[in-house]
Amino acid sequence: MSARHRSRRRELVESIAQGAVLLSDDGQLLAINTAARELLAIPPGARTRTATDVLTHPALIGAVGDVRDAGEPMTLVIDHAEARLRVNVSMLRDEVLVLIVDRTEEHRVEQLRRDFVVNASHELKTPVTGIQTLAEALSVVVAQDEPERVAELVERLGDEAARLAALVHDLLDLRRLEERGPIEREPVDLAELVRRVVAAQVNRADELAIELSVEAPVEVEFAGVEGDLEVVVRNLVRNAITYNRPGGTVHVALREAQDEEGEPEVEIVVVDTGMGIDPAELPRIFERFYRVDPARSRHTGGTGLGLSIVRHAVENLGGSIEVDSRLDDGTTFTVRLPASAYRSWPSQ
Ligand code: ADP
Repeated sequence: MSARHRSRRRELVESIAQGAVLLSDDGQLLAINTAARELLAIPPGARTRTATDVLTHPALIGAVGDVRDAGEPMTLVIDHAEARLRVNVSMLRDEVLVLIVDRTEEHRVEQLRRDFVVNASHELKTPVTGIQTLAEALSVVVAQDEPERVAELVERLGDEAARLAALVHDLLDLRRLEERGPIEREPVDLAELVRRVVAAQVNRADELAIELSVEAPVEVEFAGVEGDLEVVVRNLVRNAITYNRPGGTVHVALREAQDEEGEPEVEIVVVDTGMGIDPAELPRIFERFYRVDPARSRHTGGTGLGLSIVRHAVENLGGSIEVDSRLDDGTTFTVRLPASAYRSWPSQ
């Protein structure tokens, strides 16, 4: 084969968008493109003369042998160097062509979706089983004419139904926030919204002997999605009350600020003097269904989805959320939302 022919073949292989490797039928490497070097994790400067130099995964070497023997193309999926690869091996006249596609991201998303269905079903099972058991107990109590136990069972039945409703509600909220395309902003007075949402939690805070306070300007005009902003503030304040201790405080501050580039932003800060979060747990609290203390969360009606919903809602609005916490001392959540969108509001 002429040098020109070899160089043209190398150019051709390099021009393929997927990872591509071309081998002679006696296992010599004829060409390999940059994408294949990356996907196969071949270190720079490594020896690359034969098939076994570049195709280090045993299944790949086996597939190349099978395709060469049988002449039939073959597709296989392998996990290699922390990546999931889909590999197609076929004969090109008397040479073997190996095409490689990176499926790591698709695999990750698929896995997340599968985990979500498993976790959601598991979470739904608890209140559903509770309702079934209580309904049976109720029919026995009614049949045996024990009116004093009826009230208790009806109350527990109501609690389980409320838990189920909260879970379904949160699941739907999360799905809506995750799957929504471009958001439609509307003018929202954030100061009024924060005061209203906090006021709705005063009774609950009173019951738990927690003092709630709000600091906000008279009015903060913001272009956002009212329902989503309510969910953000409500979930953060609810958690700050739930994971607090009697006599503790929750302070909510709304401020107009500037980001590092001097662009206007609004900050919503929720500070509590509660139990705090272990630094080792912090990176996980925004995950769906993740709870630091599952028993406490369930006992207080938590679904494990609150912070995941908050993060999605904040990110949909182009913002960010940060948490700072000290165990046994308290937690501060800071939401930053870019406010510049308001400037392009038609009525401005
Ligand atoms: P949940 O429904 O369990 O409250 P979230 O997603 O809202 O679910 O929160 C996840 C976990 O993070 C909670 O179970 C709790 O362990 C922890 N957490 C959230 N907010 C606070 C807070 N303000 N103080 C201490 N722990 C918190």
